[in-house]
Amino acid sequence: MKNNDLILVTGAGGFIGGALIRYFRKKGFTRIRAVDKKPLPMWYQRIPDVENLCLDLCEKDNCVKAAEGAVEVYQLAADMGGMGFIERFRIECLRSVLINTHMIEAAYRAGCQRYFFSSSACAYNVKLQEDPNCRALKESDAYPAYAERGYGWEKLISEMFCQEYWAERKMRTAIARFHNVYGPWGTWDGGREKAPAAICRKVIEAKDTGNKEIVIWGDGHQTRSFMYIDDCVLGIDKIMHADNLIATPVNLGTSEMISINDLVSLAETIGGVKLKRRYDLNAPRGVAGRNSDNTFIKKMLGWEPDTPIRKGLVTTYQWIEQQYDDRKAGKETVRDTI
Ligand code: NAD
Repeated sequence: MKNNDLILVTGAGGFIGGALIRYFRKKGFTRIRAVDKKPLPMWYQRIPDVENLCLDLCEKDNCVKAAEGAVEVYQLAADMGGMGFIERFRIECLRSVLINTHMIEAAYRAGCQRYFFSSSACAYNVKLQEDPNCRALKESDAYPAYAERGYGWEKLISEMFCQEYWAERKMRTAIARFHNVYGPWGTWDGGREKAPAAICRKVIEAKDTGNKEIVIWGDGHQTRSFMYIDDCVLGIDKIMHADNLIATPVNLGTSEMISINDLVSLAETIGGVKLKRRYDLNAPRGVAGRNSDNTFIKKMLGWEPDTPIRKGLVTTYQWIEQQYDDRKAGKETVRDTI
């Protein structure tokens, strides 16, 4: 890539898209097009000197407009959220297949050299995730397919588009299966937030209101691994530019498995508080256990995401606390970042 080659990031008003643009700007890329369906004032981050477009990428013509002249495309747009969202809104999740259908074709027609797709660990067979002490998931565990209803199946189909655009049309595609990403500038309230942000916010709220109780979704024994946002954007760059990984799904996550109960304890320690735990067994809880097997990524890239959760959660907690305080004080959220 030359520094003035045009990079397109879709889903740019969201968590990972915003962070990825910041990463490319810092690396010295001068021509970046950022596209999202949300109106600009609602984007999580806005980075200076970037062409920001508000377009609904479910529409083919908008994908064509977005892809025009792009040398590389990073497709991060999806209608998604944490378990609370993807278990309740499966149809919305499935509809992201429209974005992925039109976007890859538009990129191909625009002559794009590399195309990145953000897949998910939700594409894995759920039958392998029924025990909190499950073994870590390796890439081949997606088949025989039994993906998460809605969201996971959409990701599997869209992965297949990437594989076939390489097999039939020789467009270089990259596919990363993200495992729970967290960090500053992520969704932290409103119903689409994921466990680390939700737990931090609940601890902050409990401290602020003096109601020393926390509601935990499920029995708290569920396990996951959580990847810090800086590892995620670095991993995207590495996977996109690895010629030994073309059209090959690869895990992008940490292999540090932690239970939700332990995640709560960590957030309590950071907040300097101990809360009474109430378990909501009717709340969405997702699979019982999930972890990333990083054997393949280490072999192919000599690298894996490795920010420990105890480190990444500190900055995440502090950022959410700042957002919480600012909102309470009636201050506007700062969205223009460098
Ligand atoms: P996000 O919700 O913060 O960002 C996604 C963005 O896509 C949003 O800003 C949304 O407005 C935009 N979008 C939705 N529909 C659109 C449309 N029709 N046209 C244009 N834009 C549209 O999510 P994120 O956490 O940044 O996730 C980015 C990608 O990574 C998604 O594909 C997601 O499925 C995948 N992923 C994320 C995680 C995670 O833990 N965050 C885990 C696995 C996979």
